[in-house]
Amino acid sequence: MSHLGRLPSQFSISIPPDKDGLIGRECPVKECEGYFKIQPGTGLKGEKLPCHCPYCGHAAGQQEFFTKAQIEYAKSIVVNRVTGALLEDMKALEFNHRPSGGFGIGISMKVEGRPHPIRYYREKSLETEVVCDGCTLRYMIYGVFGFCPDCGAHNSLQILKTNFDLVEKTLAVAETLELIMAQHWIYNGLEDCASAFDGFGRETCRVFSSKAADSAKAGSISFQNIARSRDRVRAEFGVDFAASLNESEWTRVCRCFQKRHLLAHKMGVVDEEYIHATGDRTAIIGRKCQVDANEVRALVTSLRILGEKLFEALKNKA
Ligand SMILES: [Zn+2]
Ligand SMILES: [Zn+2]
Repeated sequence: MSHLGRLPSQFSISIPPDKDGLIGRECPVKECEGYFKIQPGTGLKGEKLPCHCPYCGHAAGQQEFFTKAQIEYAKSIVVNRVTGALLEDMKALEFNHRPSGGFGIGISMKVEGRPHPIRYYREKSLETEVVCDGCTLRYMIYGVFGFCPDCGAHNSLQILKTNFDLVEKTLAVAETLELIMAQHWIYNGLEDCASAFDGFGRETCRVFSSKAADSAKAGSISFQNIARSRDRVRAEFGVDFAASLNESEWTRVCRCFQKRHLLAHKMGVVDEEYIHATGDRTAIIGRKCQVDANEVRALVTSLRILGEKLFEALKNKA
């Protein structure tokens, strides 16, 4: 039997994971073509589970998500094996008749050439690694937020919690430092809390914006001013994400956000606007606002409740 004839009628080619154990994936939607990576063996178990694009949320069969480089690689292996077999078969036909007889003409056939080369590729580097807290899939994406490729759950709440864990660790370290350094890290902790919640809130409203009264408005809700964002979320989604906090807890959250505003824009110096917005009786115009670790810790506790409420309420909204 010829080499060509011995080739199988179907090739099964395995896509090797990169050095971190991850395999690249690419969204088949033309406007997206988002690239991400997953670790095989983690996440949901079962046959014929769909894959979800972390960026646009498109769901389809796993075989739809091969990257262009992987497909080129697989094709090149097939062509390599076919051309290799063809060359072997041709070589078997080589002959060399030396010149003989009166005319002295010789004739020969020599087969030259190499099998078609294999097109190797390298998976790309990505920015954020996530282990889904719902299904345990390990995946990597560009940016920070996205849908889990296995269970399809959005990770905004998980990312928020991870950021808050970090703030709590920062506060614990701050308390071991001398006053000036401690103050610096406490301010940073407050800043991080507010920006993590802002990023989370915006993304969550954007992801669920199709459920809002006006999806364009819902997709642009900012959470820098937490009191205003509460009103806007209520107007767009009919959800009060602060309903489970009592009056004094809510006041403290608002005050922390106002202090953060002072730190970010006024070097932390109290102004009239701050007094007006918070009614903080301990603050004096022209003096620096006071922030201590316990205050930020309490803020984290409240923001965890608010974040959970916002995410669950929008997710479950019909
Ligand atoms: Zn996509
Ligand atoms: Zn998941």
